Amino acid sequence: MGRANSVLVLGAGIQGISVALALRRRGYHVRVIDQMPALMLRTSLRSEGKIHLGFVYANDSSFQTSALMLRAALHFAPLFDDWLEMPVDWRRMSSAPFVYLIARDSMLAPDALYAHYHRLQDFLNEMIAGGEAANYLGNSLRDKKLWQPAARVKTNLFSPNAIAECFETAEVALERTRFRALLRTRLAAFPEITIHYATRVETIERAANGFHVRGTRADGTRWHDDAEIVINCLWDGRLALDAQLGLRPQRAFVMRLKYRVLGELPATLRALPSLTMVLGRYGDVVRYQNAPTYFSWYPACLRGWSQTLTPPSEWDAVCAGNPPPEIADAVARETMTAFEKIIPAIGATRVKSVDGGIIYAWGESDINDFDSELHKRYEIGFTHHDGYYSVDTGKFTTAPLLAQQLVRHLDG
Ligand SMILES: Cc1cc2nc3c(=O)[nH]c(=O)nc-3n(C[C@H](O)[C@H](O)[C@H](O)COP(=O)(O)OP(=O)(O)OC[C@H]3O[C@@H](n4cnc5c(N)ncnc54)[C@H](O)[C@@H]3O)c2cc1C
Repeated sequence: MGRANSVLVLGAGIQGISVALALRRRGYHVRVIDQMPALMLRTSLRSEGKIHLGFVYANDSSFQTSALMLRAALHFAPLFDDWLEMPVDWRRMSSAPFVYLIARDSMLAPDALYAHYHRLQDFLNEMIAGGEAANYLGNSLRDKKLWQPAARVKTNLFSPNAIAECFETAEVALERTRFRALLRTRLAAFPEITIHYATRVETIERAANGFHVRGTRADGTRWHDDAEIVINCLWDGRLALDAQLGLRPQRAFVMRLKYRVLGELPATLRALPSLTMVLGRYGDVVRYQNAPTYFSWYPACLRGWSQTLTPPSEWDAVCAGNPPPEIADAVARETMTAFEKIIPAIGATRVKSVDGGIIYAWGESDINDFDSELHKRYEIGFTHHDGYYSVDTGKFTTAPLLAQQLVRHLDG
């Protein structure tokens, strides 16, 4: 079998699609398999989509998480522009920039947070001086401040009882509905990438010349494929398949089920920016020009914690966009109630939908534990065993950079 016919990518989320596009750019033909009827319909769609510049990882004193996020963020747009063979209009898909709110009971005091943010700016300046491109989703960060005091924000929107300080940043999130549509259109023009949807991968075993992979299609018929190279980008389905090849995590990990709420803000809050509250079990609001606003309040939205290789089967409906109505109602109610204590006018928001996704990470205690490994997210990426790659995406932000690294490894 020639090189071009032997690569099978499992999963059509941001990671699988990034890997497929990067492989195609290197001259490979790729087959991609996913259980859903179209690409990016699970975590990559239902997450917040922030392209992290490193602000929320201030409690990783090694600075490695923030350094990785910043580097990955600067690779995101240039890699996709190259893979898609077109200059993407990133600004059209970007959220309003994030304003950070420092909570009165933040795990780190403002001084410690600001020290981290100064370090971020210095690191960016060093990267640019070292020749790194400064393209952050279509915006040049050259000679720009990553953050500054929130001079343009109406701070009277926020309750002084909850918020100690706030500052503006250059950070944005990506509107995934538009991004998915763009990917679908471009992928349709690339015959080197074949995607088989509605196909659930169930087993993998080693063969004389690679791997046998088997599963079931949505219509109940059996599916199988043979490949020299298999790249597992199944996210919450990843560990179960790895285990069939004897590959198990050697340290504690956790899968968390986290909900999101989409809604329409009242007219009085039309000028509200995107918000992230630090540092602890707080939440985010993401504002788009032509898409619903995203809300997530951590204590209300965190609804599941699993340390088994396969997450509980009842999480599946939530991740496919069909949560149990009574839980969805509770999530929406508790989320908006919590935000109302910080932004009093927010209570008039009209909730449109509630669903969720899974977050896989190393660690075994929650983020309110100062020593939790959840504050350190740099030990991500791929492992490799005789043609079998397994990719821990880590974050939406890091997927393109990891895909580039994997394909370079594969190409030798
Ligand atoms: C609520 C929430 C908020 C988040 N916020 C951010 C953020 O702001 N910024 C950020 O950078 N990251 C964020 N993340 C993390 C980020 O979303 C994930 O790291 C990223 O989307 C994972 O991408 P993926 O392609 O690996 O997984 P997915 O997008 O889940 O893709 C995996 C694919 O594999 C398929 N699949 C799984 N098992 C099987 C199987 N057995 N057979 C066939 N197909 C299968 C699925 O259908 C899916 O399409 C957040 C996550 C959540 C849940």
